[in-house]
Amino acid sequence: SGTEIVTDVVVIGAGPCGLFAAFELGLLDIKCQFIDILDRAGGQCAELYPEKPIYDIPAFPVITGQGLTDNLLTQIAPFQPEFHFSRMVTSLEKQADGTFRLTTDADEVFLSKVVVIAAGGGSFQPKRPPVDGIEPFEGKSVFYSVRKMEDFRGQDVVIVGGGDSALDWTLNLQPIVRSLTLVHRRNAFRAAPDSVNKMQKLVGDGKISLQIGQIAGLEGEDGQLRRIHFSTDAGDVSIPATRLLPFFGLTMKLGPVADWGLELNDNLIVVDTEKFESSVPGIFAIGDINHYPGKLKLILSGFHEAALMAQAAKKIVSPDERVIFQYTTSSTKLQKKLGVA
Ligand code: FAD
Repeated sequence: SGTEIVTDVVVIGAGPCGLFAAFELGLLDIKCQFIDILDRAGGQCAELYPEKPIYDIPAFPVITGQGLTDNLLTQIAPFQPEFHFSRMVTSLEKQADGTFRLTTDADEVFLSKVVVIAAGGGSFQPKRPPVDGIEPFEGKSVFYSVRKMEDFRGQDVVIVGGGDSALDWTLNLQPIVRSLTLVHRRNAFRAAPDSVNKMQKLVGDGKISLQIGQIAGLEGEDGQLRRIHFSTDAGDVSIPATRLLPFFGLTMKLGPVADWGLELNDNLIVVDTEKFESSVPGIFAIGDINHYPGKLKLILSGFHEAALMAQAAKKIVSPDERVIFQYTTSSTKLQKKLGVA
């Protein structure tokens, strides 16, 4: 059986709006547990447009998707949020005592007084590589994300892709695997230049190998891979492999959010504009996933929604505490929480 985590607030989704919620909740002494399908924070900003400039974040004339994410992570660091990456929240239920029970596809249970759904466009789901007969291997020796690095120790690992996930995991797993082959269809990478340089150095040092080509077939039995076949310009190549990590990009689907019994409008969670609470008291929805009259799917709207949500969440988490309105500029109490006073 899995892990059980008891907490005040679970935030589903570590996109920009979810991240800023940790700041507003933190000022009210509430700590967050984040759960996200992706293997890093930033949601659409980090996954879909890390290098693109955004021009409408207040007080930032220009900032990239990754830059915004990095700044938000710095801003919320004093509140020490906990991140549970590479897992999807599959179920969310209200219990008899009024608290919520969430489960993830990584076999965890979260028990929480408040749930903040900041699930954006819904769940990012990995694209399957176009290779026949991959399904029986999925979850056994073919994985679309790395949950536990230990599962890869001593294995013959093949990573396919040319983006940040493929390159980051090549660098992170290399020290613990038995062998590692990175496969990409062309000799040009979309990942951060620094990661590409590090990868090329490992290739030069003979620590990993790089194949330019495409997966053509999988060999193995009972879900356990033995060999992988590739087609390359130089002809067909086959290498021993016990783990395959394809990073072929992601598509967005509403996913399990649809099944949680919340009132929806065109697949978006209906909320009020005072607290951004859903039709189930204690479950809030902020950012792109929510709907109310006049909603604009902008990051700045999500920031405002997070601030009002936090006030309402505080009343549920600490019903007897009176919250006094304070400015971060002038309140030493708030500054102490931020570690600046
Ligand atoms: P998201 O960023 O979508 O993050 C949601 C997170 O929730 C994801 O990481 C997802 O993996 C996770 N999640 C979902 N379901 C689950 C689940 N069941 N379990 C676990 N995790 C889950 N906005 C602007 O304001 N200005 C711009 O200039 C701008 N430019 C854009 C350019 C592009 C190319 C795109 C695609 C969007 C742009 N946007 C812009 C929109 C902006 O990115 C979104 O408004 C913003 O990302 C919404 O943030 P969010 O936190 O609500 O959700």
